[in-house]
Amino acid sequence: MTLRVLLLGGTAEARALAGELVGRPDLAVVSSLAGRVRNPALPAGEVRIGGFGGADGLTDFLRASRVAAVVDATHPFASTMSASAVAATARAGVPLLVLRRPGWQPAEGDRWHWVSTLADAADELGGLGERVFLTTGRTGLGTFAGLDRHWFLVRTVDPPEPPMPARMHLVLDRGPYTVAGERALITEHGIDVLVTKDSGGEWTRPKLVAARELGVPVVIQARPLISGAPSVDTVPEAVSWLDRMLGS
Ligand code: NAP
Repeated sequence: MTLRVLLLGGTAEARALAGELVGRPDLAVVSSLAGRVRNPALPAGEVRIGGFGGADGLTDFLRASRVAAVVDATHPFASTMSASAVAATARAGVPLLVLRRPGWQPAEGDRWHWVSTLADAADELGGLGERVFLTTGRTGLGTFAGLDRHWFLVRTVDPPEPPMPARMHLVLDRGPYTVAGERALITEHGIDVLVTKDSGGEWTRPKLVAARELGVPVVIQARPLISGAPSVDTVPEAVSWLDRMLGS
């Protein structure tokens, strides 16, 4: 019998897991993307794009598509989708696993300032510097729009829309990045503070290494707390969970 697995994606880990599972005769894997990025990196196998319509819509989808298990491999800050997954799988009686890369840990020499929200990050900037490297994504830029004293180097995957800071230079890039490249960017633009989310993973870590080497402080947004489902850090652990759960 072929069992249907829904993989909530939008991350490198989700693509890696799809790559491991697609082609297995016992599984029919569907990867789901939000549709936010104009030219998304697509996972192997079947892909559906767009929201489900909240927890109710996802519950209907799970039932209609006879989904046997869900893996939430969304980004650590995609908290609305993750909360919907917890609610919908509970209602539909479908097992759920969270695949989430571990958060970053500071090392010797790091000057990290943890904050809970982007608004707190904007407040924190006052005492740290005026030339800011902002890597928190396209959608939160409005939070920094009122900071007239600051200049921003903004890096996003797709072009942002207003509101956004008046004094900014935009770099469109999706990584992965290198320490040498990040060091050059920070130096070239005279950056004196970096703002990031605690996304974790290797693709975007080089900016933190470069900031440490250059003595640049980092304002880092802590992850939202999501509970209610078992969680693993790696793709092989997710494959083992599926094998156990689906008895294959
Ligand atoms: P979010 O705030 O948790 O989600 C907002 C809405 O987008 C959800 O309620 C859902 O709509 C839809 N959605 C999100 N992920 C989806 C998925 N994988 N498949 C189908 N619908 C999805 O999420 P977000 O922060 O906007 O992130 C959107 C996507 O970008 C996620 O897939 C995430 O993995 C990826 N991503 C996010 C970040 C980040 O910093 N947040 C960074 C890199 C990649 P409905 O309620 O209609 O179902």
